[in-house]
Order: sequence, then C-alpha cells, then structure tokens
Amino acid sequence: MGTRRAVLGGIGAGLAASALPAWAQGRRKLGYAIVGLGNYATNQIMPRIKDCEFAELRALVSGTPAKLEQFGGQYGIPKTHRYSYQDYDRIRDNPDIDLVYVVLPNSMHAEYSIRASQAGKHVLCEKPMAVSAAECEAMIAAARKANRKLMIGYRCHFEPYNLHAVDLVKSGFVGRPTLITAEHGFYAQAGQWRLSRPFSGGGSLMDIGIYSLNAARYLAGEEPVQISAMESTDKRDPRFETVEDRIDWQMRFPSGLIANCVSSYSSGHNAYRVTGTKGWVGMEPATPYEGHKMWTRANGQTSAVELLPPAKNQFVGQLDHLAESVLTGMPLRASGEEGLRDMRLIEAIYRSAREGRAITLA
Ligand code: NAD
Repeated sequence: MGTRRAVLGGIGAGLAASALPAWAQGRRKLGYAIVGLGNYATNQIMPRIKDCEFAELRALVSGTPAKLEQFGGQYGIPKTHRYSYQDYDRIRDNPDIDLVYVVLPNSMHAEYSIRASQAGKHVLCEKPMAVSAAECEAMIAAARKANRKLMIGYRCHFEPYNLHAVDLVKSGFVGRPTLITAEHGFYAQAGQWRLSRPFSGGGSLMDIGIYSLNAARYLAGEEPVQISAMESTDKRDPRFETVEDRIDWQMRFPSGLIANCVSSYSSGHNAYRVTGTKGWVGMEPATPYEGHKMWTRANGQTSAVELLPPAKNQFVGQLDHLAESVLTGMPLRASGEEGLRDMRLIEAIYRSAREGRAITLA
C-alpha cells in the first residue's frame, strides 16, 4: 500500500484564499457572541476563535453566572458583554456583537436563533439545525425578514479531507459512484440531554447519524429520491426511554447511486467510503475533530492520502466563513436551507422506520 501526498485543489484551495475585497481589508473584525457555554463551545469553539482572520470573541450568553465569570475572565470579555438568557434580547443594543453562535441543546436552537435574528444579528447555529422542519423554516423566515445570514455548524464542509473526498468523487477518480457507506456512532452515557427527547428531538440520528446523512449528500453531489429505514433499539435499556439507539437507512439517488447509512448510540463508528466503477475513496475516522485518515483505491492499488496542514482548520474555517460572507456578500456554504434539507430527510427516515415502508421524496 503506497502513500500519496495530495495537494489541495478546487474548493479545498478556496479555504486558504481570502476573497476579501480591498474595501474590507483592514476593517475591524466582526464580533461573535457565544450562546451556551457547554462542552463543545468551551472546549472546541472558543479556544479557536483567536485564530480567525475576520472574527473575534466579544460576548458570552449563559444561564450560569459562575461560567460567565470564569470564561468572561479567561477571554477578557467585559461585564457589559456578558448576558443571561433573560438578558439575551439586549444584544440588540450592543454594536460590538455582529454574529451569534448558538451552541445549546437542540430543542433550544430555533428559539435562540430566531431571537438573534430579531435582534439584527447574523446567526451560526449548531447541528442539527432544530428539532423539526417546521422550526427550520421559521428560523429561515426570521433571518430573511431581518435581512441577516443564517448558517449551520456543519464543520466538515470546511475540513480539507472531506473537501478532498468530494473533489476526488467529482473528478471521476472512482468512476461512476455506485455505493456510499457512511457510519457514525458512539456509546452515549446515561444522564445527558441527548437522551431526553424534549431537549434532543430524537436519538442518535439527530446527534451523530446526521454526519452519515450529510456526508452521503455531499459525497453524492445529488439529493436522494427515496429513503428506507429500520430502527433497532433495546427498549429495556433505560437510556432509550424516549429516543432511538440504532437506526440504519438506505437512500436512492437519481443517478442510481445507493447510500447505506448507520447511526448508533451503542457502538463506535466514524467512517465512510464512496465506491464506483473504477475504485473507491474512504475515510476512517472521517469526521473527527482532528486525525482524519483517508485511503483511495484505483488500478488495483490502495494508497493512503496525506494532505498538507491547512491554513485554517475546520473550526476556524467555519467561524471565519460566516464573517467573510457578511463582509463580502459571498454565498454561505452551509446555509439554513442546507440544515432544512437534512431535517426533512431526518423526518423521512423516522417516518420510514415507523411505518415500515420506503418513502418517496418529492
Ligand atoms: P453540552 O451539554 O455540553 O452544552 C449545552 C449547554 O447548554 C450547556 O452549557 C448547558 O448549561 C446549556 N443549557 C442551557 N439550557 C439548558 C437546558 N435547559 N438543558 C440543558 N442544557 C442547557 O452540549 P454540547 O455537547 O456542547 O452540545 C451543544 C450543541 O452543540 C448541540 O446542539 C450539539 O449537537 C452541538 N455539537 C456539535 C458538535 C460538532 O462537532 N459540530 C459537537 C458537539 C456538540
């Protein structure tokens, strides 16, 4: 097995290049307010904002005064820029806040994104966009009414290996794609909001299976026309009183390509592969925070692919993308419409599993 060093081209290369016009250069950075100081916000997002070219951390929103004190001190956020959930709408009066990043439990995404739009701010909201397609539509309408941007936290859209996989498939490297397999899962410990439907909106599919779904769509480069799903949950396991554990589904695409997808809260999975008439492209792990591994196979030879480190990692790329889009007017790569598409498919997956039949998509 050989190792192939690939140089990023196509959309991947776009990550490093600034599209900022001369008028915007030297302008002050845009300011983020982070809403919800939980695990992902404090361990993954906040420490990386300092690496952004177009944005910086300017405000915090939390229901826990001790967290506002701790992280406010750590990041030099003045008391005037620390908000409780009751105070939240006052961000409207703070011109230092341009962008609001909602990193709350899923069922709170819609409310806090809509309130941010109504306060005149641009919104980055974590995945899953909300807990229903109807909520996603309301979020899109609120952002549109306020004439503000709405982006969803699909960090893999800014991750070089994932972008390279898309480029390879598009370039015909695997020939005509015929099969995508995508698996995501982890063992979900009891006692967290993810296992409570009122907070999560659903089980592993909402949380981790959405990576299989979204990856299948960006790798396919087309939208599915049919979905068939099967749920497998041990209802004796107290973790699964209100949400599903395992759900597997199949999607048929217009080209004839089939995607087989896995989502689990009881076993570890993080992989995908696109197989075509000439070879395949595979990743494992495919969508981690770091440490991606990629292999390709063509002409009877399997090669490991190593990319040069990017100028911006996926977190910085995502955070900067919204700011750059606001500054330059360039279209968003992961808009509210993208989140809504996934949510409609999630609803179809649940419906197919519930009704025990394939769902044809409009
Ligand atoms: P978490 O439980 O660590 O954080 C949630 C935060 O919301 C906490 O600070 C909590 O105090 C706050 N909160 C406010 N009201 C709450 C309430 N009523 N109940 C529970 N918590 C409440 O969760 P997390 O892992 O940081 O996830 C937050 C969001 O980020 C989720 O939507 C999740 O899907 C998303 N996420 C995305 C990624 C990614 O890679 N894109 C990774 C992890 C989490």
